[in-house]
Amino acid sequence: MKKHNFSAGPSILPEFTIKNTAEAVTNFAGTGLSVMEVSHRSKEFVAVMDEAISTVKELLHVPAGYHVLFLGGGASTQFCMAPYNLLKTKAGYLNTGAWAAKAQKEAKLFGEVIEIASSKDKNYNYIPKKFDVPSDLDYLHLTTNNTIYGTETKTDLDLGVRLVADMSSDIFSRPVDISKYNLIYAGAQKNLAPAGVTLVIVKEEALGKMDRAIPSMLDYRTHIAAASMYNTPPVLPVYAALQTLNWLKNNGGISTINKKNIEKAAVLYDEIDSNKFFKATVEDPEDRSIMNICFVMQDEYADLEGEFMQLATSKGCVGIKGHRSVGGFRASTYNAMPKESIEVLVAAMQEFAAKH
Ligand SMILES: *Cc1c(COP(=O)(O)O)cnc(C)c1O
Repeated sequence: MKKHNFSAGPSILPEFTIKNTAEAVTNFAGTGLSVMEVSHRSKEFVAVMDEAISTVKELLHVPAGYHVLFLGGGASTQFCMAPYNLLKTKAGYLNTGAWAAKAQKEAKLFGEVIEIASSKDKNYNYIPKKFDVPSDLDYLHLTTNNTIYGTETKTDLDLGVRLVADMSSDIFSRPVDISKYNLIYAGAQKNLAPAGVTLVIVKEEALGKMDRAIPSMLDYRTHIAAASMYNTPPVLPVYAALQTLNWLKNNGGISTINKKNIEKAAVLYDEIDSNKFFKATVEDPEDRSIMNICFVMQDEYADLEGEFMQLATSKGCVGIKGHRSVGGFRASTYNAMPKESIEVLVAAMQEFAAKH
């Protein structure tokens, strides 16, 4: 039976991506070789990297003056690379979850870090709204989608300060006004490609202002100068990323997928809100993520959690166990998740309610 993959990451990818990547693993671009065994400097692979970069620019309307990079190391490497390159004296961090807190911890190695606001008091189940942002920050760091807790900042904040954003779990899910950001980074394994590559979009003007020496591999300028080929890039994940980018392009681009994502999330949130056995962990609709939907049993039915998990699993739903720090369930509904899979989960919730 086909599984409905609600995993938070690594997670569902479009069939288009998986099929084309599988083909390239055996015969890449008619070379008679696997994409895993060709030189990254071959003209065939250089074309893949160039097209991946130009397609990111096209899909996200990246303005002039920005560079798109595909790097190794994961989003977690960006937690230190961002301040290494951009934190001269003082940066602000919005603490909206475990990933945000990790990013903040790394930044302290490089300068003064101000926690602008935090939602830790309520296990990160909301996005702080009222806070003052000092005007002399080098940047304000945000985690736009908090994968573990299911909260999301769905607009590009206008706070009079340049933004740095971890968009690992919502990149390509909604239109973004890139011009508000000095840096955006995203590990690929949530909405783009297999783990191993990290997308970076960085503003040229923000670089080259540090007094400190920066190791070559951790200096964005190294990778800009080499067009993401300073060292061997993660060839297979980059190939897969290009397939996902083309899938998005062939299906109407970011505004179309955003509408679908909003519709998909509404189907599940509506059921959670109307089904008396369940409740969403994030109450404010404005803060609710359209990528990771977290819900638990209502208190009086807490002992039925295992039974619902069993029922959902029997319908082919996998990866819906909530993160250990939240409990309950988490349905990740990334771009590639078809509406039909969400309807299967919703039907299971209705069947469960009818039975009890
Ligand atoms: C998964 C995730 C990360 C960690 O990504 P790695 O590539 O494993 O380092 C960081 N931030 C967010 C928001 C994530 O969802």
